[in-house]
Amino acid sequence: MIKVENLYKQFGENEVLKNISTSIDSGEVVSIIGPSGSGKSTFLRCLNLLETPTKGKVWINNQEITDKKTNIMKVREQIGMVFQHFYLFPHLTVLENLTYAPIKVKGESREAAAAKARELLSRVGLSEKETAFPNNLSGGQKQRVAIARALAMEPELMLFDEPTSALDPEMVKEVLNVMKDLAQSGMTMAIVTHEMGFAREVSDRILFLDEGKLLEEGSPDEFFNRPQTSRAKDFLEKVL
Ligand code: ADP
Ligand code: MG
Repeated sequence: MIKVENLYKQFGENEVLKNISTSIDSGEVVSIIGPSGSGKSTFLRCLNLLETPTKGKVWINNQEITDKKTNIMKVREQIGMVFQHFYLFPHLTVLENLTYAPIKVKGESREAAAAKARELLSRVGLSEKETAFPNNLSGGQKQRVAIARALAMEPELMLFDEPTSALDPEMVKEVLNVMKDLAQSGMTMAIVTHEMGFAREVSDRILFLDEGKLLEEGSPDEFFNRPQTSRAKDFLEKVL
């Protein structure tokens, strides 16, 4: 589903990603872990070209998105992204947040888009909120709407960048539970997270980034129980 080959990203003099190669299979759930500033967000954003890699290649579904001839807008329709700060449309109701892109971008009928949106709202436990506006929702509810909105585009792949980091502690679980359900449904997911319990339980694989390098890559059991590098050992001692 995703292949990354010798990826580099530089901001001015600052080399933020250094020669990263990896791949993510269809249906796989991969958590990206590492200290603040290690390049996790930049890496995730390179997977849909929100950041343009300085060097290296990225394929999504066998399409090389780093090839300038690729229509990135078409590829992005296959990729849902969820951010720390939700970015819902404040002037649209919850239901309209979910139907907006399917109608505008995919040309779906209002009725079909609304039917699918209601199904998704039920899936994230927010059926009763379809006429509410984002400002009247809690953080956890907003993030569940954001996830449902991404799913409304029927993506083949979902990217999450610290989806629970801006939430009050009591709201973290409701969002993680939605993500867990999604993982169990077979969605391909790449998740930047500081939720170690979640990463350990739900991921098929962990990527550990440090100073822009992919230092470790392995099963949760390998990474959490037998980290290979001193950087990973230090990191785990601080966060566990
Ligand atoms: P993480 O998500 O692991 O905290 P980031 O990918 O956000 O790390 O950032 C990695 C490094 O890249 C940091 O040093 C950050 O300051 C720098 N960086 C990120 N985005 C930009 C940008 N748009 N312009 C310049 N520097 C950036
Ligand atoms: Mg980040």
